[in-house]
Amino acid sequence: MPFRILVSNDDGYFSPGIAALAEAMRGFGEVTVVAPEADRSGASNSLTLDRPLYVRESSSGFHYVNGTPTDCVHVAVTGFLQHRPDLVVSGINNGQNVAEDTLYSGTVAAAMEGFLLGIPSVAFSLADRGFGQLDTAVYVAQRVVAGLIQRPFASPRLLNVNIPNVPLEALKGYRMTRLGRRHVAQPVVRVESPRGEPMFWVGAPGAIKEAGPGTDFHALQNQEVSITPLRVDLGDSAASDEVAAWLESLP
Ligand code: MN
Repeated sequence: MPFRILVSNDDGYFSPGIAALAEAMRGFGEVTVVAPEADRSGASNSLTLDRPLYVRESSSGFHYVNGTPTDCVHVAVTGFLQHRPDLVVSGINNGQNVAEDTLYSGTVAAAMEGFLLGIPSVAFSLADRGFGQLDTAVYVAQRVVAGLIQRPFASPRLLNVNIPNVPLEALKGYRMTRLGRRHVAQPVVRVESPRGEPMFWVGAPGAIKEAGPGTDFHALQNQEVSITPLRVDLGDSAASDEVAAWLESLP
């Protein structure tokens, strides 16, 4: 039975990043690409519930969906694919996904959906924008996936991999990391429509706040590949005592 890999992303099925990732995966088994028909960066884990979703095939053989990254993986795994994939990979994203970016990222969300469905999943992002050193990211993706096949984790894991935008010779190594922290995001930018209506562009992410040793920021700054294991549980057990006491004193 072939090893089956589902490839998705959030930049859209036409992105150079997903073409490179799909090509990089071919040596490992049977590759299927199911990705959004439009750039859905920032879609996070959203599902489309107000209309049906099509899965169409482009001339490249890639499939595209009129939905979000999460839709793509959800539809592929639970209905479209004949066989359950053994691995879900997402990317290669046009730009890094570190710290709080991971909450908004559609690249991470596509991988997270695979993970939620019980499949080992990896998100790949290339730092900076513009795919300057896409070959480096391809090489890294192949090494990581080779490692996952050669020595799988005891149970499926979700990995967030960020690759520094440097030539392969300049890569310093691979670092297991935790998420850094950003300051609050930049405010929206007010613009005016041609008809005089005030409108707003969502602004830039917040500046770096916590980028100490061990963080994803730190690894990238040191030209290392950052590999952050992610979990899905948003529960805050550290807050439970205080909230329980507060509940006791509800008026
Ligand atoms: Mn993106």
